[in-house]
Amino acid sequence: LGGSISRAIQQMSNATIIDEKVLNECLNEITRALLQSDVQFKLVRDMQTNIKKIVNLDDLAAGHNKRKIIQQAIFNELCKMLDPGKPSFTPKKGKTSVVMFVGLQGSGKTTTCTKYAYYHQKKGWKPALVCADTFRAGAFDQLKQNATKAKIPFYGSYMESDPVKIAVEGVERFKKENCDLIIVDTSGRHKQEAALFEEMRQVSEATKPDLVIFVMDSSIGQAAFDQAQAFKQSVAVGAVIVTKMDGHAKGGGALSAVAATKSPVIFIGTGEHMDEFEVFDVKPFVSRLLGMGDWSGFMDKIQEVVPMDQQPELLQKLSEGNFTLRIMYEQFQNILKMGPIGQVFSMLPGFSAELMPKGREKESQAKIKRYMTVMDSMTNEELDSSNPKLMNESRMMRIARGSGRHIREVMEMMEEYKRLAKIWSKMKGLKIPKKGDMSAL
Ligand code: GDP
Ligand code: MG
Repeated sequence: LGGSISRAIQQMSNATIIDEKVLNECLNEITRALLQSDVQFKLVRDMQTNIKKIVNLDDLAAGHNKRKIIQQAIFNELCKMLDPGKPSFTPKKGKTSVVMFVGLQGSGKTTTCTKYAYYHQKKGWKPALVCADTFRAGAFDQLKQNATKAKIPFYGSYMESDPVKIAVEGVERFKKENCDLIIVDTSGRHKQEAALFEEMRQVSEATKPDLVIFVMDSSIGQAAFDQAQAFKQSVAVGAVIVTKMDGHAKGGGALSAVAATKSPVIFIGTGEHMDEFEVFDVKPFVSRLLGMGDWSGFMDKIQEVVPMDQQPELLQKLSEGNFTLRIMYEQFQNILKMGPIGQVFSMLPGFSAELMPKGREKESQAKIKRYMTVMDSMTNEELDSSNPKLMNESRMMRIARGSGRHIREVMEMMEEYKRLAKIWSKMKGLKIPKKGDMSAL
């Protein structure tokens, strides 16, 4: 009897050691990923400590998929780190709010100011832009150009060199004009930092903004914490916007900015254009930080709803990244059937929001059917090619005639194809998980 007890105890402690090893392995892997994503070292260390407290080794011993449990815990912890616990001030339509943008030169302030204004204008607000950057030559011209393009009223001066004076004049004018969102763009020079922070303090004191937004370039790396903190010390930063998320940087500096300013990230910039601007969504952001792409939820969903025997083929296609017209055709069929794969695909960004907007499912279905009719007149070569250049005008004319649809519709279908191909290509190189372990990490 004594022998079996000691054996059992030994087995138990062995199990714990193994689980601890798995835990440490996972943590090390993720630490590497996070540091590569520019998350501040101290934050990574804090996270490790917290995870070790949260993950119960006994649970791990009982749980089947240990890595999954650990990954989930880490995922949740990172989401929590991006949540400062209180929402930022949110301007209200119809009520005047002054929003001041701060950040270093080149971080994307001027661009983001316009995006922010445009975003609200589309929703029926009356925004206005004030250029209080008198430091950089051409600053006013840049804002003026952006504002004109978006048909947003603006204020600035080529002559006046006092940013405080311009800011106050601009804010007053637009208050009189009943604008409900008055946005103040500021300077962000690299040198003379002390002077910059003093200027920010003065502009803020004079314009009394309801919200100060710190704009951060996603690629600034480990410098994010000090930068954000420096701004927070001179003005009451209440929200963060991370720009250039369309580039290679994963934006781990956002965690630092949140920690330093105790403010949430509210938007991200995803390109140079006015409409490349998205409301911040914590889960896809964290997936990306961890190197899981935006597809972690998608992978889980595949596992949930796609029958096992159909998974390998689909995943193979995904990882190859070549989105042919035939694949689009098959996915359209799935969506129309609303079979399991259709359910998954209709959840994907791009497949869902643009192709099948909520409330307009009937219309979307009709459109998909028309596209499929068009594709029925394509040759195998055309269907299996992933080169959109193959589709020249004479081919499109032929397809239009063959399907009895207007050439405009063939072109529209090709545009849709290109858009979806772009989304699909992001999945290229996706690691194909082994059976039973679908986590992409
Ligand atoms: P500011 O000095 O802080 O006012 O920065 P600007 O608004 O002038 O932007 C600096 C550069 O970054 C410009 O070339 C912008 O077009 C570019 N930029 C800003 N936001 C984004 C973004 O989200 N994505 C990309 N790719 N470029 C951006
Ligand atoms: Mg600027």
